[in-house]
Amino acid sequence: MKICNVCKIPKCEGDYYKDKNSPDKVGYTCKECSNKRNLKYRNDNPESTKSSTKAYRIKNLHRLRKQNIEYVNKRLLEDPAYKTRFRMKNLFNANLSRGGYTKKSRLTNIIGCSYEELTEHLNNNPYGFKMGEQGIDLDHIKPIKDSNSLDSFESLWHYTNLQLLPSHYNRAIKRDKPFDKTHFKIWLEKTL
Ligand SMILES: [Zn+2]
Repeated sequence: MKICNVCKIPKCEGDYYKDKNSPDKVGYTCKECSNKRNLKYRNDNPESTKSSTKAYRIKNLHRLRKQNIEYVNKRLLEDPAYKTRFRMKNLFNANLSRGGYTKKSRLTNIIGCSYEELTEHLNNNPYGFKMGEQGIDLDHIKPIKDSNSLDSFESLWHYTNLQLLPSHYNRAIKRDKPFDKTHFKIWLEKTL
C-alpha cells in the first residue's frame, strides 16, 4: 500500500501509474487524482493542449497517415461490412455533393439498417454477386437521377433500393434508367 500525496488515501500499487523516477517505480499520485489533475490542466489550458496535439500531428503526419492507410487496407480485406461502409460513404458523399445537398442525418439511418445487414442483403442475390468484388457495382434500383430534393435523394439510398449489378450492365446499359429484371436476365444469359 502507498499513500497518495494528493488525496492521502492508502491505495495498492495498481492504483498508481508507473514512474521510473520514483524509488519504487510507482508514482506519488494515485490514478484517480492524476486523471483529475490532467483533466483540470486541459480545461484550464485549452489552447496549449490543442496546439500540442496539433504540433504532434504535424510532426507525425507522414507516419500517422501511413498507419491509417495500413489500418484501412487491413480492415477492407478482413471485414466485409467495413468494406460496404467504406464504399457506401464514398459513393453517398460523392452523389450528395453532386446533387448540391448537405446531409442532415446519419448514413445508417438513411440506409435503414446496419452495414452488416446491408452486406447480407446485397450478397443475398440469385446471381452470386458479392459486395466489393471486382466488376460488381452498387446500383440504385430506382435511379438517383430521379431525386429532386434531399428527402427523395435520401429515400433512394434506403437498402431496399440498393442491389449489386455487373459494372458493364450498370454503366453501359442500365445507366440512369430504372432496373428491369427481365431485361437483365436476358442480358445475363447472353453474356455468360
Ligand atoms: Zn489520490
